[in-house]
Amino acid sequence: MEGSKRKFEDMGLSPKILSAIDTAGYESPTPIQEQSIPIAMEGEDLLGLAQTGTGKTAAFAIPLLEKLLETSGKREANIRGRRPEVLVIAPTRELADQINESIKQLGIYTKFSSLTLYGGVNKNPQDDRLSKGTDIVVACPGRLLDHIREETIDVSNIRTLVIDEADTMFDMGFLPDIRKILSYLPADKQTLFFAATMPPEIRSLTSEILRSPKSVQIGTIAPAKTVTHSLYPTTDKMKKRMITALLDHTATGQVMIFTRTKRRARFLSEELDKTGFRVVPLQGNMSQNKRKQAINGFKSGKYDILVATDIASRGIDVSEVTHVINFDMPNTVDTYIHRIGRTGRATNTGEAFTFCTVEDEPLIKRVEKVLGSKIDRRVIEGFDYGGFSPTTNVSNREEHDKPHRNGTRKHGNSFIRKNRGSARHPKNSRFQGNKEVSRRGEASRQKHFRKSSRANG
Ligand code: AMP
Repeated sequence: MEGSKRKFEDMGLSPKILSAIDTAGYESPTPIQEQSIPIAMEGEDLLGLAQTGTGKTAAFAIPLLEKLLETSGKREANIRGRRPEVLVIAPTRELADQINESIKQLGIYTKFSSLTLYGGVNKNPQDDRLSKGTDIVVACPGRLLDHIREETIDVSNIRTLVIDEADTMFDMGFLPDIRKILSYLPADKQTLFFAATMPPEIRSLTSEILRSPKSVQIGTIAPAKTVTHSLYPTTDKMKKRMITALLDHTATGQVMIFTRTKRRARFLSEELDKTGFRVVPLQGNMSQNKRKQAINGFKSGKYDILVATDIASRGIDVSEVTHVINFDMPNTVDTYIHRIGRTGRATNTGEAFTFCTVEDEPLIKRVEKVLGSKIDRRVIEGFDYGGFSPTTNVSNREEHDKPHRNGTRKHGNSFIRKNRGSARHPKNSRFQGNKEVSRRGEASRQKHFRKSSRANG
């Protein structure tokens, strides 16, 4: 963990992969990559404890591509067809797509093919693509089992298995499916296993399936250090009014808002849209196509705000998410960690705001225990709390004239609705280093102003 920083060049990677890393713009390995890549390249089983946003996808994608490169010369001519060598299992379609994209990006100078298998879309095109042959399959458990049972895929040649976000799969009830899938796979394979947290069920699964694994843990099982946390005491009734006030008051880039239910995600998104925000919902009742459009629209800057439920948003990687807002407190500490893992990704910093009601206090105490410190309680200045008295420390009141940590400035005024948007994507944004992002931010700001000014008459 300690010692001099390793470089990608010192890891014995092949020129094709090094060039792809360069093309992706990764200058140096993240801690999880620094630790995992050498272990995985040795062919050992790996147990990686790391949340999303740490660069863990590349931490397994790089070695699995290297292993394919190593064996490609020795492979029999007829071994491909329906017999992939690498299987990655992930909990959600969105995460599967994202992993597949990363593998394609890092394998850009190789000739390996990769495809995704998940439900919610027609199975026939998947059959067709499988029959043409692939080296790598990235799949969600349910649809993969369908393919295995219908023998549209042959998994007897899998040499590398990656299980990503195992704890999420457990939360989603996929553990029995995973055990079934494992029963079809050859015993002689390398397994790279990743989870952000270790509930007992996951711990026992790892001891069953991993062979003398090397463990890699990034930090403690706690949210990324690049994220700062704040609580906004409120009541359920007040939340809707409060969210617009908070957004109006805060210099934000891309924002993800989490709600407890699909209905609440839809309603809140509609409300914010009516108020003039460029917002899109992401929840499990939407078709796969609509979900994809929402994510792509959010990634491209067409929308500034994504209102999501937990399941729909697992693993989504939008590197410029500056704020995660828990409109509703999640049910567990793990979910809190997953949610706020959407911001502060890679080298960016982010903020996590949580609306908390009195009922949320016990869970907040548990989150604070994991964080190792108390979370700031804040109030929104100028906001009409009615008869409600937010439990707050005066010194923690929002100081809107104070320069923002990254050189941006929050609104100096009290709550003025018409000012919405003026602090969004500020010129000297923290993302200035990333030209593509700031250009996108600029376009997004322009569009946002148009809509805001229309909405505000
Ligand atoms: P992940 O945790 O795999 O979802 O990755 C989070 C983000 O970090 C993604 O946008 C990656 O493209 C990015 N990333 C991964 N590795 C590196 C690296 N070595 N340097 C900079 N960014 C990286």
